[in-house]
Amino acid sequence: VLKVRDVNRTFTMGEVEVEVLRDLSFDIYDGEVLAMVGPSGSGKSTILNLIGGLDQPTAGQILFEGTDLAKVSASQLTRYRRQHVGFVFQFYNLVPNLTALENVLAAAQLASKPLDAEEMLAKVGLAERMHHFPAQLSGGEQQRVAIARAVVKNPKLLLCDEPTGALDFTTGISALELLLQFNRDLGTTILIITHNTALADVAHRVIHLRSGEIVNVQVNAQPKPPAEIVW
Ligand code: ATP
Ligand code: MG
Repeated sequence: VLKVRDVNRTFTMGEVEVEVLRDLSFDIYDGEVLAMVGPSGSGKSTILNLIGGLDQPTAGQILFEGTDLAKVSASQLTRYRRQHVGFVFQFYNLVPNLTALENVLAAAQLASKPLDAEEMLAKVGLAERMHHFPAQLSGGEQQRVAIARAVVKNPKLLLCDEPTGALDFTTGISALELLLQFNRDLGTTILIITHNTALADVAHRVIHLRSGEIVNVQVNAQPKPPAEIVW
Protein backbone atom coordinates (compact mmCIF):
# COMPACT_ATOMS: atom_id res chain seq x y z
CA VAL A 1 0.00 0.00 0.00
CA LEU A 2 2.80 2.39 0.78
CA LYS A 3 6.34 2.99 -0.43
CA VAL A 4 8.96 5.08 1.30
CA ARG A 5 11.66 6.13 -1.18
CA ASP A 6 14.99 7.79 -0.35
CA VAL A 7 13.41 9.80 2.43
CA ASN A 8 15.43 12.35 4.35
CA ARG A 9 14.10 14.46 7.19
CA THR A 10 16.25 17.22 8.58
CA PHE A 11 15.22 19.52 11.41
CA THR A 12 16.85 22.91 11.61
CA MET A 13 17.14 24.40 15.05
CA GLY A 14 18.86 27.78 14.92
CA GLU A 15 22.25 27.15 13.36
CA VAL A 16 22.14 23.42 13.85
CA GLU A 17 20.84 20.96 11.27
CA VAL A 18 19.93 17.54 12.54
CA GLU A 19 19.50 14.77 9.98
CA VAL A 20 16.96 12.49 11.63
CA LEU A 21 16.18 10.18 8.68
CA ARG A 22 18.80 9.27 6.08
CA ASP A 23 17.90 7.87 2.65
CA LEU A 24 15.23 5.66 4.10
CA SER A 25 13.49 3.27 1.66
CA PHE A 26 11.05 0.47 2.44
CA ASP A 27 7.60 -0.83 1.51
CA ILE A 28 4.54 -1.55 3.58
CA TYR A 29 2.75 -4.47 1.94
CA ASP A 30 -1.00 -4.80 1.70
CA GLY A 31 -2.42 -6.74 4.64
CA GLU A 32 0.78 -7.15 6.62
CA VAL A 33 1.67 -6.32 10.20
CA LEU A 34 4.99 -4.50 10.03
CA ALA A 35 6.93 -3.58 13.15
CA MET A 36 9.58 -0.89 13.21
CA VAL A 37 11.90 -1.04 16.18
CA GLY A 38 14.76 1.15 17.28
CA PRO A 39 16.09 2.96 20.31
CA SER A 40 14.73 6.28 21.53
CA GLY A 41 15.64 9.04 19.10
CA SER A 42 16.21 6.73 16.13
CA GLY A 43 13.49 8.50 14.12
CA LYS A 44 10.53 6.14 14.58
CA SER A 45 7.88 8.76 15.33
CA THR A 46 9.35 11.00 12.63
CA ILE A 47 8.80 8.36 9.93
CA LEU A 48 5.33 7.54 11.28
CA ASN A 49 4.36 11.21 11.06
CA LEU A 50 5.59 11.35 7.46
CA ILE A 51 3.64 8.23 6.51
CA GLY A 52 0.52 9.60 8.22
CA GLY A 53 0.66 12.87 6.31
CA LEU A 54 1.33 14.86 9.49
CA ASP A 55 4.75 16.04 8.30
CA GLN A 56 6.66 16.24 5.01
CA PRO A 57 10.09 14.85 4.14
CA THR A 58 12.99 17.18 3.39
CA ALA A 59 13.76 14.96 0.37
CA GLY A 60 12.39 11.75 -1.08
CA GLN A 61 8.89 10.40 -1.53
CA ILE A 62 6.10 8.81 0.45
CA LEU A 63 3.89 7.01 -2.09
CA PHE A 64 0.43 5.87 -0.98
CA GLU A 65 -1.01 3.53 -3.62
CA GLY A 66 1.40 5.15 -6.09
CA THR A 67 0.60 8.77 -5.25
CA ASP A 68 3.31 11.00 -3.77
CA LEU A 69 1.82 12.63 -0.65
CA ALA A 70 3.98 15.71 -1.27
CA LYS A 71 2.33 16.27 -4.65
CA VAL A 72 -1.33 16.27 -3.61
CA SER A 73 -3.44 19.29 -2.61
CA ALA A 74 -4.07 20.18 1.03
CA SER A 75 -7.65 18.92 0.80
CA GLN A 76 -6.54 15.60 -0.71
CA LEU A 77 -4.03 15.20 2.09
CA THR A 78 -6.77 15.90 4.64
CA ARG A 79 -8.92 13.24 2.96
CA TYR A 80 -6.02 10.80 3.11
CA ARG A 81 -5.68 11.35 6.87
CA ARG A 82 -9.41 11.16 7.54
CA GLN A 83 -10.27 8.16 5.38
CA HIS A 84 -7.27 5.98 4.77
CA VAL A 85 -5.14 6.25 7.88
CA GLY A 86 -5.95 5.36 11.49
CA PHE A 87 -3.69 6.53 14.30
CA VAL A 88 -3.07 4.93 17.68
CA PHE A 89 -0.70 6.82 19.98
CA GLN A 90 1.02 5.94 23.23
CA PHE A 91 -1.12 8.29 25.32
CA TYR A 92 -4.41 7.59 23.51
CA ASN A 93 -5.09 11.25 22.62
CA LEU A 94 -8.85 11.00 23.13
CA VAL A 95 -10.87 14.21 23.16
CA PRO A 96 -11.50 14.67 26.91
CA ASN A 97 -14.90 16.35 26.67
CA LEU A 98 -16.38 13.71 24.36
CA THR A 99 -17.64 10.32 25.57
CA ALA A 100 -16.10 7.10 24.28
CA LEU A 101 -18.90 6.79 21.73
CA GLU A 102 -18.61 10.44 20.66
CA ASN A 103 -14.85 10.05 20.15
CA VAL A 104 -15.47 7.11 17.84
CA LEU A 105 -18.43 8.77 16.09
CA ALA A 106 -16.39 11.90 15.37
CA ALA A 107 -13.81 9.82 13.49
CA ALA A 108 -16.56 7.87 11.70
CA GLN A 109 -18.23 11.06 10.52
CA LEU A 110 -15.02 12.24 8.83
CA ALA A 111 -14.60 8.98 6.89
CA SER A 112 -16.49 8.00 3.77
CA LYS A 113 -17.23 4.34 4.52
CA PRO A 114 -17.18 4.06 8.29
CA LEU A 115 -18.12 0.98 10.27
CA ASP A 116 -20.75 1.14 13.01
CA ALA A 117 -19.36 3.05 16.01
CA GLU A 118 -21.37 1.20 18.67
CA GLU A 119 -20.46 -2.13 17.14
CA MET A 120 -16.78 -1.12 17.15
CA LEU A 121 -16.91 -0.29 20.85
CA ALA A 122 -18.62 -3.61 21.54
CA LYS A 123 -15.85 -5.36 19.57
CA VAL A 124 -13.17 -3.80 21.76
CA GLY A 125 -15.11 -4.89 24.84
CA LEU A 126 -16.56 -1.54 25.87
CA ALA A 127 -20.28 -2.00 25.20
CA GLU A 128 -20.99 -1.05 28.82
CA ARG A 129 -18.68 1.98 28.85
CA MET A 130 -19.77 3.80 25.71
CA HIS A 131 -21.12 6.85 27.51
CA HIS A 132 -18.14 7.32 29.81
CA PHE A 133 -15.70 10.19 29.38
CA PRO A 134 -11.99 9.36 28.95
CA ALA A 135 -11.20 10.42 32.54
CA GLN A 136 -13.67 7.80 33.79
CA LEU A 137 -11.84 5.01 31.94
CA SER A 138 -8.62 3.16 32.78
CA GLY A 139 -5.58 3.52 30.52
CA GLY A 140 -6.26 0.15 28.90
CA GLU A 141 -9.89 1.08 28.28
CA GLN A 142 -8.88 4.44 26.81
CA GLN A 143 -6.48 2.67 24.46
CA ARG A 144 -9.36 0.39 23.38
CA VAL A 145 -11.44 3.46 22.59
CA ALA A 146 -8.49 4.87 20.62
CA ILE A 147 -8.22 1.59 18.69
CA ALA A 148 -11.99 1.61 17.99
CA ARG A 149 -11.69 5.22 16.84
CA ALA A 150 -8.84 4.37 14.47
CA VAL A 151 -10.46 1.25 13.04
CA VAL A 152 -14.03 2.63 12.67
CA LYS A 153 -12.93 4.35 9.44
CA ASN A 154 -11.98 0.94 8.10
CA PRO A 155 -8.62 2.49 7.13
CA LYS A 156 -6.14 1.04 4.63
CA LEU A 157 -3.33 1.69 7.03
CA LEU A 158 -3.28 1.65 10.83
CA LEU A 159 -0.32 3.54 12.30
CA CYS A 160 0.50 2.71 15.92
CA ASP A 161 3.20 4.66 17.79
CA GLU A 162 4.15 2.74 20.97
CA PRO A 163 0.56 1.47 21.37
CA THR A 164 1.41 -0.43 24.55
CA GLY A 165 3.91 2.11 25.90
CA ALA A 166 1.68 3.40 28.69
CA LEU A 167 0.04 0.07 29.56
CA ASP A 168 0.99 -2.69 31.98
CA PHE A 169 2.05 -6.07 30.60
CA THR A 170 -1.35 -7.81 30.52
CA THR A 171 -3.23 -4.77 29.25
CA GLY A 172 -0.57 -4.24 26.58
CA ILE A 173 -0.91 -7.84 25.39
CA SER A 174 -4.67 -7.52 25.05
CA ALA A 175 -4.34 -4.24 23.11
CA LEU A 176 -1.94 -6.03 20.74
CA GLU A 177 -4.39 -8.91 20.39
CA LEU A 178 -7.09 -6.46 19.40
CA LEU A 179 -4.89 -4.91 16.72
CA LEU A 180 -4.01 -8.32 15.30
CA GLN A 181 -7.67 -9.33 15.33
CA PHE A 182 -8.51 -6.36 13.09
CA ASN A 183 -5.64 -7.32 10.80
CA ARG A 184 -7.12 -10.81 10.43
CA ASP A 185 -10.81 -9.87 10.26
CA LEU A 186 -10.69 -6.70 8.17
CA GLY A 187 -7.33 -7.13 6.44
CA THR A 188 -6.13 -3.81 7.88
CA THR A 189 -2.46 -3.17 7.15
CA ILE A 190 -0.71 -2.26 10.40
CA LEU A 191 2.53 -0.46 11.20
CA ILE A 192 3.57 -0.79 14.84
CA ILE A 193 6.40 1.40 16.01
CA THR A 194 8.13 0.55 19.26
CA HIS A 195 11.43 0.53 21.12
CA ASN A 196 10.46 -2.88 22.55
CA THR A 197 12.01 -5.64 20.42
CA ALA A 198 9.99 -8.37 22.16
CA LEU A 199 6.81 -6.80 20.90
CA ALA A 200 8.00 -7.05 17.30
CA ASP A 201 7.71 -10.86 17.46
CA VAL A 202 3.97 -10.57 16.71
CA ALA A 203 4.64 -8.88 13.35
CA HIS A 204 5.06 -10.51 9.94
CA ARG A 205 8.13 -8.34 9.28
CA VAL A 206 10.40 -6.25 11.44
CA ILE A 207 12.48 -3.27 10.32
CA HIS A 208 15.28 -2.28 12.68
CA LEU A 209 16.12 1.41 12.71
CA ARG A 210 19.30 3.04 14.11
CA SER A 211 20.03 6.76 13.85
CA GLY A 212 17.56 7.19 11.00
CA GLU A 213 18.85 4.26 8.94
CA ILE A 214 17.61 0.72 8.38
CA VAL A 215 20.13 -1.74 9.80
CA ASN A 216 18.15 -4.95 9.37
CA VAL A 217 14.90 -6.34 7.97
CA GLN A 218 13.68 -9.56 9.51
CA VAL A 219 10.83 -11.78 8.29
CA ASN A 220 8.90 -13.72 10.93
CA ALA A 221 7.69 -16.85 9.15
CA GLN A 222 5.63 -17.61 12.24
CA PRO A 223 4.66 -14.50 14.13
CA LYS A 224 4.17 -15.14 17.84
CA PRO A 225 0.72 -14.91 19.39
CA PRO A 226 0.81 -11.94 21.81
CA ALA A 227 0.11 -14.27 24.74
CA GLU A 228 3.53 -15.90 24.16
CA ILE A 229 5.50 -12.66 24.36
CA VAL A 230 7.64 -11.98 27.38
CA TRP A 231 9.09 -8.55 28.13
P1 ATP B 1 11.21 7.62 21.08
O1 ATP B 1 11.38 6.13 21.14
O2 ATP B 1 11.84 8.31 22.23
O3 ATP B 1 9.79 8.03 20.84
P2 ATP B 1 11.78 8.11 18.27
O4 ATP B 1 12.56 7.02 17.64
O5 ATP B 1 10.31 8.14 18.04
O6 ATP B 1 12.10 8.11 19.82
P3 ATP B 1 11.78 10.71 17.04
O7 ATP B 1 10.68 11.29 17.85
O8 ATP B 1 11.44 10.32 15.65
O9 ATP B 1 12.44 9.48 17.78
O10 ATP B 1 12.96 11.76 17.04
C1 ATP B 1 14.19 11.52 16.39
C2 ATP B 1 15.07 12.74 16.55
O11 ATP B 1 14.50 13.83 15.85
C3 ATP B 1 15.25 13.21 17.98
O12 ATP B 1 16.60 13.53 18.15
C4 ATP B 1 14.38 14.44 18.07
O13 ATP B 1 14.89 15.36 18.96
C5 ATP B 1 14.38 14.98 16.67
N1 ATP B 1 13.12 15.65 16.33
C6 ATP B 1 11.91 15.05 16.16
N2 ATP B 1 10.96 15.93 15.85
C7 ATP B 1 11.57 17.15 15.83
C8 ATP B 1 11.13 18.49 15.56
N3 ATP B 1 9.86 18.75 15.23
N4 ATP B 1 12.06 19.46 15.64
C9 ATP B 1 13.33 19.20 15.93
N5 ATP B 1 13.81 17.97 16.19
C10 ATP B 1 12.96 16.96 16.13
MG1 MG C 1 8.66 8.16 19.28
